[in-house]
Amino acid sequence: MIGGLIFGAFADREDNMNFIAVIILIALGVNLLLHIIADVCNLKNLRTELPDAFRDWYDPKRYRDSQEYLRVNTKFEWLASSVSLAVFLAVWFGHGFPLLDQWVRSFLQSPIIRGLVYIGLLVAAKALISLPFSVYSTFVIEERFGFNRTDAKTFVLDLIKQTVLGGLIGIPLLAGILSFFEYAGANAWWYCWMAVVVFMVVMQFVVPTWIMPLFNKFTPLEPGELKTAIMNYAESIGFPLKNVFVMDGSKRSAKANAFFAGFGRHKRIVLFDTLIENHGVAELVGILAHEMGHYKKKHIYWMMLAGIIQSGIILYLLSLFISAPPLFEAFYMDQTSVYAGLVFFGILYSPIDFFIGIFMQMFSRKNEYAADRFAAETTERPNAFIRALKKLAVHNLSNLRPHPLYVFLNYSHPPILDRIEAISKVN
Ligand SMILES: [Zn+2]
Repeated sequence: MIGGLIFGAFADREDNMNFIAVIILIALGVNLLLHIIADVCNLKNLRTELPDAFRDWYDPKRYRDSQEYLRVNTKFEWLASSVSLAVFLAVWFGHGFPLLDQWVRSFLQSPIIRGLVYIGLLVAAKALISLPFSVYSTFVIEERFGFNRTDAKTFVLDLIKQTVLGGLIGIPLLAGILSFFEYAGANAWWYCWMAVVVFMVVMQFVVPTWIMPLFNKFTPLEPGELKTAIMNYAESIGFPLKNVFVMDGSKRSAKANAFFAGFGRHKRIVLFDTLIENHGVAELVGILAHEMGHYKKKHIYWMMLAGIIQSGIILYLLSLFISAPPLFEAFYMDQTSVYAGLVFFGILYSPIDFFIGIFMQMFSRKNEYAADRFAAETTERPNAFIRALKKLAVHNLSNLRPHPLYVFLNYSHPPILDRIEAISKVN
């Protein structure tokens, strides 16, 4: 309805540029400009002297490395996003979308199969363009700063596994969405929504149990001081913990991490082997206390709920736009189709996604503070937890002084100094 009103108002302006095209171009421009401004502020914010909290933690050479790491990565991202934007604009204004459609139509009759091939080719092209950047990032940048542990074999195997999995999971899901919008009329969006919700819930069980083991080895933590300390802590906060897993993160990178995945019986607490190498027992308990804090504070459910609501909104908006003629005119298409509508809506939606992303990250940063507070309160050893965070920041060459605008746009976790300050205030 709203869509109809908007389209009606602009219908008589055919000689001008299509208004949807204008909206997309403005959104792309604003997004690019904002990110470049934030990047420049972020680089300008770097200081040669160490913050007080890190005075005894960093050797000067490694601290200079951390700044160089940020500079190199920022410039690399500029290059990667310029290339992908240039390719996208060339395909768009070179009438690439209708050309591909005509070619697919020349040999495929079924709209669903045609849609799978059309979208599959676009996804494959996008992946091919980003491949050299991924190679460079892993084997040149990460290598230079001493992080890379991926060898060519692991890299290629990862690529093959990701492609096969993407096909196995993506093709049925996409075929379902295309079929609903092709055949279910006005009900399509909420049928799709139900399907997507079921998919999201099922993946919570499938990912930790079936998918992650395809990429990494998970071994139960051996009995000993560390395991006893973790189990005792979990019991003290009433966290139902059966096992802690150690993941061979060192297979790909020297960077260290810990995470929590899945629900119910299938949930896992995972420590990277690289984390265990560098931290003492009290520090590791602090890190896991933070992860269990996310569970006890129900952050995982809230994030999931936010994802479900978000996907409902997206699908509803999709149902308004998917067959709107201006959307197809914007991309020079003379024939409408569900699959092309899906692609173009995805492009039109990205500016909205940008704003929702900012909101989700604010939510996530708030949750991180809450999990930190939980860890500090329940372990009664806030200093060990602070020590762990400092070690992690140094080890992973985190930026100690990100610019607030950059944090606002990009950070899912608060900056390290803010976290330390907040934890210090907990007694
Ligand atoms: Zn966290």
